[in-house]
Amino acid sequence: MKRVSIFGATGSIGQNTIDLIARARQDYQIVALSGAGNITQLAEDARRLNAEVAITAHDHLLEDLTTALAGSAVEAAAGEQALVEAAARPADWVMSAIVGAAGLAPGLKALEQGSTLALANKESLVCAGALMLRTAKKHGARLLPVDSEHSAVFQALVGEDISAVERVIITASGGAFRDWPLEDLKNATLDEASNHPNWDMGQRITIDSASMFNKALELIETREYFGVNPKQIEVLVHPESLIHAMVGFKDGALMAHVGPPDMRHAIGYALHWPERRELPVERLDLARIGQLTFRAPDEIRWPALRLAREVMQTGGLSGAVFNAAKETALDGFIAGRIGFPDMAAVVEEVLTKLSGQSGHIDATMTLDNVAKIDHLARQEAQSVISRRAG
Ligand code: NAD
Ligand code: MG
Repeated sequence: MKRVSIFGATGSIGQNTIDLIARARQDYQIVALSGAGNITQLAEDARRLNAEVAITAHDHLLEDLTTALAGSAVEAAAGEQALVEAAARPADWVMSAIVGAAGLAPGLKALEQGSTLALANKESLVCAGALMLRTAKKHGARLLPVDSEHSAVFQALVGEDISAVERVIITASGGAFRDWPLEDLKNATLDEASNHPNWDMGQRITIDSASMFNKALELIETREYFGVNPKQIEVLVHPESLIHAMVGFKDGALMAHVGPPDMRHAIGYALHWPERRELPVERLDLARIGQLTFRAPDEIRWPALRLAREVMQTGGLSGAVFNAAKETALDGFIAGRIGFPDMAAVVEEVLTKLSGQSGHIDATMTLDNVAKIDHLARQEAQSVISRRAG
């Protein structure tokens, strides 16, 4: 039996992971399930899957969780520290599907236990890629990508030598506003930004898809995970979201990964790796689909892509600054304090302001200095937002 923990179990990735696991219940022992606000869902899944412990990220919800689990054998816990402690419980496979930098500490702790970490939480690689990879290496832990693009690249590289890779192309649907006139973006509403044309995901990543901050994070994720040069990574707009990524080799061959926009493929691949097992995803009928289309990304519409290139150039802690400023700007947009295009402007200003403190220190990257710069970047972003909100 595989011992499995799922951090961010109540979210979109978490629920898809549970869906796969529930289909082969006898193969898994559930160690920890975590959530934040959705106590009913968390308790229901923890009971149904007979988890050892359920954790809410919010201290003040401990009583609610305890009540919801009354009469079951599931332990209840709450708070950031409890999440890290749960990640220290022995597990073979851990899903990292918390949204945001909050996923970093539990993910690192799981790597320190030598667990295989299935990484949906791209923010941890963006904030602290060097630290994550160093920790995995030190403890003999494996990091498996769960982002659809990165799972696709990973699969295209099976049996290949990374030195034969010329370029990596990650595709982007273009999100909700890919065809909007540029001048309309400033009036884009939260509802409009929260409506993805192809994928059904959590609200934050859906808005990040419309702004391309999601693809910006993924550029950095590609660089960190595969160790390729930023110049070798391309973004290609592909509105149908059926090709997830392509790897171009020295001999001119392009290996494309094609599949339906269903995260259960990437999750299932990481769950069963190195085997391939049957998964409940749609089989594509390409004759019916007829055609696939592509366009170059527009850096005026999506300044986040340019900012990600600058971050890759600077390295060090600038990824943590970028992510923290982006998370704060996104909160500002969700709260109605700033407009849609202001998010990129806020992030750019924070990157410029903190550029002296964030570069070139991969070798000394620690959870502590990542947390400090993350905090500073959030404060800076708040003050930029307050000024803009006037
Ligand atoms: P979601 O919003 O649906 O779920 C997020 C989960 O994290 C929930 O369980 C929530 O309770 C928990 N959470 C939220 N804030 C927290 C905090 N401060 N501390 C601890 N837990 C907290 O998000 P999602 O769409 O499932 O995305 C999860 C991660 O996977 C993100 O990093 C996202 O970028 C990545 N990802 C998602 C998809 C997708 O299809 N949804 C695809 C690729 C990558
Ligand atoms: Mg992705």
